[in-house]
Amino acid sequence: MLTITLLGTGSPIPDPHRAGPATLISGAGEHYLVDAGRGVMMRLAAAGVGVGDLTAVLLTHLHSDHLTDLNDVITSRWVMTFEPSPLTIVGPVGTREVVDHIVAALGPDIGYRIDHHDDLAYGFPPVSVIEVDDGAIDLGGAVEVACAPTDHRPVHPTVGFRFDQAGASVVTAGDTVPCDGLDRLCAGAQALVHTVIRKDVIGTIPLERMKDIRDYHSSPEEAARTAQRAGVATLVMTHYVPAIPPGGGEDWKALAAAHFDGAIELGDDLHRVEVHATAVSGAR
Ligand SMILES: [Zn+2]
Ligand SMILES: [Zn+2]
Repeated sequence: MLTITLLGTGSPIPDPHRAGPATLISGAGEHYLVDAGRGVMMRLAAAGVGVGDLTAVLLTHLHSDHLTDLNDVITSRWVMTFEPSPLTIVGPVGTREVVDHIVAALGPDIGYRIDHHDDLAYGFPPVSVIEVDDGAIDLGGAVEVACAPTDHRPVHPTVGFRFDQAGASVVTAGDTVPCDGLDRLCAGAQALVHTVIRKDVIGTIPLERMKDIRDYHSSPEEAARTAQRAGVATLVMTHYVPAIPPGGGEDWKALAAAHFDGAIELGDDLHRVEVHATAVSGAR
């Protein structure tokens, strides 16, 4: 079984109820954090998962809202674990440079802590960066992890991830329009976690900068059609723009349901979805 926890269902727009984009995929005692948006350490704490329990952090792309609290994950992992515990960070090409810059920005803090705590004297927060583009990713765990390129252009490169464990499988799409790479990743999977925006609502906002975001995200209808093509059993929507009021979202579900026969999940931060191994259904 794999468990999906929507740690942060928000977007770049600050919201009192929704943390920034982050999703936790758990199975076989392992925890994979997909993206690390605003407030991710608070939501991990609420989910009862310690930073030392993370098997890896996986970034779908390098947009700031998806990694703004990666620095907090790196520092917390370093100072909240009591023996060297390298943090594996997986992401598209460019991730290594971003992580190097984050660690560089933490330089003064790293110096203070090394000076004050002898047991941290082994040095920098140990991080291990793996840049990926397509195919299986060997993270050494019981959960099999793979990725495929997605289409969030002009943001490039971007990837979606797939997690397989004992017959249960989950895809996390990240930000993307419908594309072949995502279709390939979803084939035979049980659940698809997809970021969505309401293009119909955003189109009425008289701000070009808002209208622009319609180009490179999927609407609930588009995410639903991707789920339908792949034959997944469950579509999980997250990253709501505009933010759904707490407890709301039935209208978003209805838009997706017009294009998808399976179960549709959305919710507030910390919403959980269990994905059990089932016979793989054929593509519809
Ligand atoms: Zn993005
Ligand atoms: Zn985003």
